[in-house]
Amino acid sequence: MAQLDSKIPSGPLADKWRKHKTEIKLVNPANKRKYEIIVVGAGLAGSSAAATLAELGYRVKNFVFHDSPRRAHSIAAQGGINAAKNYQNDGDSVYRLFYDTIKGGDYRAREANVHRLAEVSVNIIDQCVAQGVPFAREYGGLLANRSFGGAQVSRTFYARGQTGQQLLLGAYSALSRMVGAGAVELHTHSEMLDLVIVGGQAKGIVVRDLVTGKITSHSADAVVLATGGYGNVFNLSTYARGSNATAIWRAYKRGACMANPCYTQIHPTCIPVSGDYQSKLTLMSESLRNDGRIWVPKKKEDAKKDPNSIPEADRDYYLERMYPSFGNLAPRDIASRAAKRVCDEGRGAGESGLGVYLDFSDAIKRLGEPAVRERYGNLFDIYHEITAESGYQTPMRIYPAMHYTMGGLWVDYNLMSNVPGLFVLGEANFSDHGANRLGASALMQGLADGYFVIPYTIGDYLAGQKPGSRPSTDSAEFKAAEANVIGMTKRFLDTKGRQPVSHFHKRLGKIMWDGCGMARTEATLKKALREIPALREEFWSNVLVPGSADTLNQSLEQAGRVADFLELGELLCLDALTREESCGGHFREEYQYPDGECKRDDEKFAHVAAWEFQGEGKTPLRNTEPLNYEFVKMSVRNYK
Ligand SMILES: Cc1cc2nc3c(=O)[nH]c(=O)nc-3n(C[C@H](O)[C@H](O)[C@H](O)COP(=O)(O)OP(=O)(O)OC[C@H]3O[C@@H](n4cnc5c(N)ncnc54)[C@H](O)[C@@H]3O)c2cc1C
Repeated sequence: MAQLDSKIPSGPLADKWRKHKTEIKLVNPANKRKYEIIVVGAGLAGSSAAATLAELGYRVKNFVFHDSPRRAHSIAAQGGINAAKNYQNDGDSVYRLFYDTIKGGDYRAREANVHRLAEVSVNIIDQCVAQGVPFAREYGGLLANRSFGGAQVSRTFYARGQTGQQLLLGAYSALSRMVGAGAVELHTHSEMLDLVIVGGQAKGIVVRDLVTGKITSHSADAVVLATGGYGNVFNLSTYARGSNATAIWRAYKRGACMANPCYTQIHPTCIPVSGDYQSKLTLMSESLRNDGRIWVPKKKEDAKKDPNSIPEADRDYYLERMYPSFGNLAPRDIASRAAKRVCDEGRGAGESGLGVYLDFSDAIKRLGEPAVRERYGNLFDIYHEITAESGYQTPMRIYPAMHYTMGGLWVDYNLMSNVPGLFVLGEANFSDHGANRLGASALMQGLADGYFVIPYTIGDYLAGQKPGSRPSTDSAEFKAAEANVIGMTKRFLDTKGRQPVSHFHKRLGKIMWDGCGMARTEATLKKALREIPALREEFWSNVLVPGSADTLNQSLEQAGRVADFLELGELLCLDALTREESCGGHFREEYQYPDGECKRDDEKFAHVAAWEFQGEGKTPLRNTEPLNYEFVKMSVRNYK
């Protein structure tokens, strides 16, 4: 059974991080260069961590499967990044950001982690401004803010609709500087396919060079995974097509616990699915809910009409009606379910009936089209490119889609997993968002982890490791991990079935969406749990992976990722079935209040579920970490 010691520091909430930093062990500057750290991933979490650890003096090896760190999925982030700066003087504070995040997560996150996140949020903005990130500014030159869901203050910093791109360019320049200084060894086109454990500690990885197919081992004193979320288990999602779960899944199979995999986020404002040929869905940023109003026709018979022909009196601005305090800025899980409800009633827009209107006509009247264009122009352009419709002239059609995963590898307060020496950052860990993440908080968390948390906490572990004690890659553990990777590759190529990898991914996605999507029931989950193993079996007997292992082979890459999704999907459903309550993005239809809100069961489920691999074909072990709320009173979320 895994040891889950959260290592939450004692003392008052607001003092914990400061106290922890003064109490944890340090590595002296001369010794830092004797340690090697592997960082896998160079999105916001990975590149900020790699750059900062190198700046501190550690020797860093950074691995990414992309051809450049700039291609990480982080680049797609549109709307913004939260920070409790209170530049608007509208009542924000570290405590308020902490409280909003805890409440937004439906009381399923650790208080201490979330408070630290809110504290360091203010440093992130200063750090990024110093790097030259071009945040939007007011006329007078001060940084501008806008609002995101689940908050009643404006605390979101942004760079038009390209915030992730600009932040990543900032982190990438910091990383490039360290690469230039020889402190970071950057390995692009390198996919981590196994984690190597020596003496119970994470001491290296096995990677495949995606261009030459060469399998190599790399040892280190500690391994940091910053490999992003696993939402593509649903196939259709707003994620970059290449985002995958392989690194964290292979680490899970080596003993790292997977926490709350069923906490997945459906985003309410995405362009609806339009056909079977589609491989990805497109997000329309939540920032649009600042000025756009969401509605459906009041009457079913109006659903297929031209929206501009439907008079004001016949429109149902359902979020404003149901949640008058937060209105269109209700949190994502709540807004998504409300959209599903009105569409299920037959009032959904578009051919499929799975769409609601996001309407800017009021904003255009109030602010003028140029102001709307200035704020959101590139998002309107995206919409136009995909639908050939102008959001300025006719309301956009949107529908919820898979977007983010709050679950991930279990980590303690130091961001170390239950495997000593294995640290997990950014979306890959489970830490700060509980059962639902608030908008603009993922960028905040990834950069908090990379710039401000791991640089302190990794020293606490390394100080206990003898410098130069790294194992050799000739050791038996590395050889066994390499053999595992080579064996799996061979199995894919030798199967020589009839269906391409994408066929299985699509079918898995449908099972996941129908069984464990926006709403879940015991029956849909049990059905999915029957279907996934059968699909997995079919995959292993009928998958067709053309080509060879010693060259660029995207089918082979995909095969590994889909094979992992076929296992992770099952765990996700098992977690959802076991958690007999609704909370945040995990909505079990059996557990709801009469008005359709989530019904938590704090008696039985106020804990983190951390699943531990027990071997192929065996049911994983469900460990729990209790969540003790000392500073906030757990209550039923209310956005009315
Ligand atoms: C369309 C969209 C818009 C968004 N907008 C916002 C927003 O406005 N605000 C906000 O806060 N959040 C937003 N998010 C969420 C946010 O972008 C992500 O949660 C965040 O960027 C994840 O960062 P990360 O560094 O953890 O992972 P990623 O950016 O996904 O980076 C993962 C890295 O790991 C590498 N990698 C993965 N697996 C392996 C492997 N096996 N071997 C080697 N390398 C590997 C990849 O190459 C990559 O470098 C948005 C998400 C989407 C989809």
